[in-house]
Amino acid sequence: MINLDSSLEEIPRIKKTTVKRLEKIGLKTVRDLIFYWPFRYDDYSKIMTIKELKGQKSGTVRVKINLIANHRSPRKKITITEAIVTDDTDSIKVVWFNQPFLNKVLRSGQEVYLAGKIDQDDYYGTQFLNPSYEICQQNNPIHTGRLVPIYSTTTNLTQKQLRYLVKQNLHLAQHIEDWLPRSTRSQYNLTGISFALEQIHFPQDRKWLERATHRLKFDELFLIQLRNQIIRQKIKSKIASIIKFREKETKKFVKNLSFQLTEAQRKSSWEIVNNLEKATPMNRLLEGDVGSGKTVVATVAILNVLLNKQQVAYMAPTEILAEQHFKTISEFFSKNSFKIALLTREHICTNQDKKISKNQLFKQIKEGQIGLIIGTHSLIQEKVEFLNLALAIIDEQHRFGIKQREILIEKANPDKIANFSPHFLSMTATPIPRSMALTLYGDLDLSIIDELPAGRKEIVTKIIPSSGIEGVYEFVRQKIKEGRQVFVICPLIDISDKLGVRSVKEEYKHLSKDVFPEFKTEMLHGKLKAGNKEKIMRKFAQNKINILISTTVVEVGIDIPNACVMVIQGSERFGLAQLYQLRGRIGRNEHQSHCFLVSETESDKAKKRLKALKTAKNGFELAELDLQMRGPGEIFGTHQSGFVNELKIAKLSDAIIIKEAQTTAKQLFEKDPELKECPILKQRVEEFTKTMHLE
Ligand code: ADP
Ligand code: MG
Repeated sequence: MINLDSSLEEIPRIKKTTVKRLEKIGLKTVRDLIFYWPFRYDDYSKIMTIKELKGQKSGTVRVKINLIANHRSPRKKITITEAIVTDDTDSIKVVWFNQPFLNKVLRSGQEVYLAGKIDQDDYYGTQFLNPSYEICQQNNPIHTGRLVPIYSTTTNLTQKQLRYLVKQNLHLAQHIEDWLPRSTRSQYNLTGISFALEQIHFPQDRKWLERATHRLKFDELFLIQLRNQIIRQKIKSKIASIIKFREKETKKFVKNLSFQLTEAQRKSSWEIVNNLEKATPMNRLLEGDVGSGKTVVATVAILNVLLNKQQVAYMAPTEILAEQHFKTISEFFSKNSFKIALLTREHICTNQDKKISKNQLFKQIKEGQIGLIIGTHSLIQEKVEFLNLALAIIDEQHRFGIKQREILIEKANPDKIANFSPHFLSMTATPIPRSMALTLYGDLDLSIIDELPAGRKEIVTKIIPSSGIEGVYEFVRQKIKEGRQVFVICPLIDISDKLGVRSVKEEYKHLSKDVFPEFKTEMLHGKLKAGNKEKIMRKFAQNKINILISTTVVEVGIDIPNACVMVIQGSERFGLAQLYQLRGRIGRNEHQSHCFLVSETESDKAKKRLKALKTAKNGFELAELDLQMRGPGEIFGTHQSGFVNELKIAKLSDAIIIKEAQTTAKQLFEKDPELKECPILKQRVEEFTKTMHLE
């Protein structure tokens, strides 16, 4: 018998290829499928007559098929299925492209629901174009005649397949025991979980959809709040190494820097070293714009730990970033005699030995000769053992997940001292406004760097209509001739004529063939293998590529000062904070930098948004502004930051539900911190906590 934990292969008659495609969107079990919710709905709930339909742009009808036949289009080499359908009021022609099997599925005489768009063609007249269809045998149609769920999906996995699979298995939702205490449910008038799950996929009507959404939003926010409480309490119960603040040496270090720390850098450093002096582990997020100088702040913390003869692990998301940090920090410490190691899949070395074997390196770490180890995830994966790891730092994109935290705690504690934990410092360039961060990351303390170092040259930013692109290309040509490098950013990877925006692939073809055949161009996007991405990034950093055409994947922390021009296609499609971050990748050079926001839109609102980029002082201000203008779901664009994407259904604007969830979680936790009285909830929180941040 199939149950919630059955893997998808066990679903009767499911195809292997379908299982693979489901896996691609992250679904492995029946439970995953049921917890994969639509992101929107097409409203085909009102069934109209053909006569009514003809006056509309789209809709649903219940009709009888009079005639149906396939023929091949001579010009386009595709199969066209045509049908004439009728009801009591009228008849209409229906056309489907490229679905040759249709005349086997649908037969004349049959009654069907059809839902979709009406096409008014001067030549062909009024026709129903590629409608969804469903044979009228069920009382409860799933593809038509209702609020129809739309899921995000991948190539070759259709909405219809997904809907069908969900429908087939949704009855299992009834076996889910509700984890929300009854009192909470009645206090906030929340529906039961099984019912909410059924309604979120196939809502009976708008009202029930809203109730289901409300329940699931509450759930999500409540679980996050509970998790935060639990983490906070766990951390409080642990003991960390006390790192004495070494004032004299720190002052000397700061004085010897080639620049003056900004006020915000000083304040953040101060908060961190203060925190390190406590016997309770630090759990802090350091937020600051790209280029605001987080590395040096982290280095002040590292300095103090090393002077206390303890160890630091510094994790970066990619090899290039790890190498860059190794170089920068080794230079910061050129006057000290600390031994620093780099550990990635490709590079193993220290600032004192260019060559060192892995075994030797591990030995020196274990014996404590090496104080600072900078690396990628290898740091966690490899068999590194520390002598006395006191501080773990993670740079960009992800904060420490429970799992990572546990592995590091274990590695840091070879002698199994009860309740020991290192201090943790996460860093991000995503400008999450403080209020939001407190809501979502109540388990973290915050330090914010909200100013850029003085003397940064302003990046000249221009909004350009797509018709003006030739002039921009001319400018780009000039700059490359002067020796500079250029980023071109596109919102999509693949061609999509629907949206009318250039994709990376199209732009690459166009630029490398037609516009800049004389220059070296390369493309970069998320579908490339990690190794390939790194290779291209490295080549760009070494100035072996003139123009890099990329999606937003282009490295957050990477420092390529010679890149002075950025062209952003379809710029209105990005969040302001995201545009700001993208732009932060240029402007690190004595040469003047330029950013061109190419925009197809004529709308005043969109223009006003883009203009804000020219005036805002920092990423936080923009994030707040975007919050007001577009709503929080979109602040970070479609490519949400790792810090925000844990919200599946709730929005940061759900202020009331956030508050309710927070209060409830707090009350519950204060009364029963072990959740002894709510075993199902306890299990749910544990599951929830485990599945987060495992990347
Ligand atoms: P991010 O916050 O994006 O990680 P980095 O730490 O990489 O920024 O710093 C960006 C650049 O700014 C580096 O070259 C760094 O040496 C420099 N920098 C950092 N702080 C200051 C400062 N106070 N004044 C001038 N330059 C600084
Ligand atoms: Mg950085």
